[in-house]
Amino acid sequence: MNVNNTVIVNTNENYNYEKMQRNIRELKTKYPFLEIENIGESVQKRQIPCIRIGNGKNEVMYSASIHANEWITSLVLMKFIEDFCIAYTKNRDIFEHNPKEIFNNSSIYIIPMLNPDAIELVTGNIKEGSKEYNHYKEIANNFPNVTFPNGWKANYNGVDLNLQFPADWEKAREIKFAQGYTMPAPRDFVGFGPLTEPEALAIYNFTLKHNFRLILAYHTQGEVIYWKYANYMPADSEEIGRIFSKVSGYLLDTTPPESANAGYKDWFIKQYNKPGYTIEVGLGTNPLPLTQFDKIYSDNMGILVLASII
Ligand SMILES: [Zn+2]
Repeated sequence: MNVNNTVIVNTNENYNYEKMQRNIRELKTKYPFLEIENIGESVQKRQIPCIRIGNGKNEVMYSASIHANEWITSLVLMKFIEDFCIAYTKNRDIFEHNPKEIFNNSSIYIIPMLNPDAIELVTGNIKEGSKEYNHYKEIANNFPNVTFPNGWKANYNGVDLNLQFPADWEKAREIKFAQGYTMPAPRDFVGFGPLTEPEALAIYNFTLKHNFRLILAYHTQGEVIYWKYANYMPADSEEIGRIFSKVSGYLLDTTPPESANAGYKDWFIKQYNKPGYTIEVGLGTNPLPLTQFDKIYSDNMGILVLASII
């Protein structure tokens, strides 16, 4: 077997925290030009890694799996890292762009798994009957309408991490409380305040330390790109959104009002008045099956490349 040709990121089986950490180590060994750091840790002390591609001035950031049952998005970003590295070392174009130019002009920060604890639950890595499993189950028992464990989006504390950001958090609270999410839940509980959860705080602080030109926040599902927050109109934001829509085939749309507050991309737009996008990949019920992976990945290749140079 020629080890050099072995693909590291396996997109044919469920992903989880251990596999991601192993893949990151393997990628770093094979492609030492990758820079790895941890931006913080989860409630249960799992690391939240960030992989940087490139050392250019134009900083962009892609994140995935802030929602546990959307873990297929972690695979999208991990595979992109590997494909970029392959293109870079073989000096082959990626989506018709030269990876060396991208590497020299841009720094792509990739946070592939923001919510590692609960991904272990949704991917079946927490044993039924274990203390951890029972902890999740107790929270879920108050919300019998949410499928367990497949409907779990929140973190270990039952807080929806994408409702934790200081961008009309109170409004999000009002809306979600009216929907009945008034306590820790598998989804849609905003928490007891903004940024109370370590995973949300980690990406918040990491963002503040940088000067991102734009951010992509990966979710499932709907094949839609959300680009707006309130009345903010960051320069180029709609135009870039249109380009992303064109290369992916996804619809460019405004966020539905019931989920238009307190998300990471909402806060990013509010804080910087720069382009931020929620990308909802794939179609169907979360967690999406891996049979969709190839289509999702090829739909998003253009976005992932262009976002670093646009
Ligand atoms: Zn989501």
